Amino acid sequence: MVTDKTTLVVNRDNCPLCKSKGRKILFSAKHNSPGFIDFIKFEAYYSDAFYKAFHNSAANELLYEIAECDDCHFIYLTEVLSDMGMGLLYNEWLDKEMLRVHYSKLPHIIYHEHMVSVLRKHFNKKQQPTLMDFGAGYGRFVEMSVQKGFKTFAFDIGADKNDFMDNMGVTIINNLSKHKNYFNVIWVNQVLEHVSDPLGIVKELTESLTDDGLIFIAMPDCTHVKKILEQKPLSQELFRLLSPHQHINAFTNNTLKLLGINSGLIPLSMVDFFKLYNFKLSPAELKFLVKKTIKNSGASTGLLFKKK
Ligand SMILES: [Zn+2]
Repeated sequence: MVTDKTTLVVNRDNCPLCKSKGRKILFSAKHNSPGFIDFIKFEAYYSDAFYKAFHNSAANELLYEIAECDDCHFIYLTEVLSDMGMGLLYNEWLDKEMLRVHYSKLPHIIYHEHMVSVLRKHFNKKQQPTLMDFGAGYGRFVEMSVQKGFKTFAFDIGADKNDFMDNMGVTIINNLSKHKNYFNVIWVNQVLEHVSDPLGIVKELTESLTDDGLIFIAMPDCTHVKKILEQKPLSQELFRLLSPHQHINAFTNNTLKLLGINSGLIPLSMVDFFKLYNFKLSPAELKFLVKKTIKNSGASTGLLFKKK
């Protein structure tokens, strides 16, 4: 039962990427202001428990406030759920059964399968390289990783998702400190737009990466978020990029690059791909890698990084 707003939220007073305090507020509205509930309802999978909390507790006192950092131009929500609030969100406020059905109906993602193959090829001298999917969701990616011969690990905070993966041959972990310098590949897909401290997390993940390891990070591409905010505030288009509770960081390819660099990583370039793969890739595979990990691809932006 949520009784107190201060236990539910944390305020991000500094830029989550560069720690600068200077910022412009681009938009600000309380969750309980007139009409805001219609914006919240763009999330189709809120449970009855969420609406009960919203109408009967401090959950409706949250502030939806968008800031842009003066220094690095990262765009982020200032007031976000605390760890306790995130626990509520992912374990109670979102309808798990509806989400599970939703994810099970999504088409097989071909580009993920290509990525796993290319990454497996990179580590072809190792008998069983290690891969961790950070924020593994319902295990669609780890299934492919197991099939391609990676010793596969999954990290996720949702307890129900962990049950789901138990019998896929995947080791479920919830503590990174036991796995320093351990993973050859870390996969972080559509996760860091959700977390209050993306820099802290990527620093921790970097420590878990082997010295020759690779980390792939991808999230929604928010290049046009300011334009959408000006032209269509509180629209579904805005919701897809910055939403109450869930999408709290609006990354672009540039700010993703900065996130990696500030965490002790180096983004891979075209030259790196040639060197790393030593011409082991076919032209089609190379073209694919460049398309998916150097430029933006569709609605998502992603980069492969190595350790400094
Ligand atoms: Zn900044």
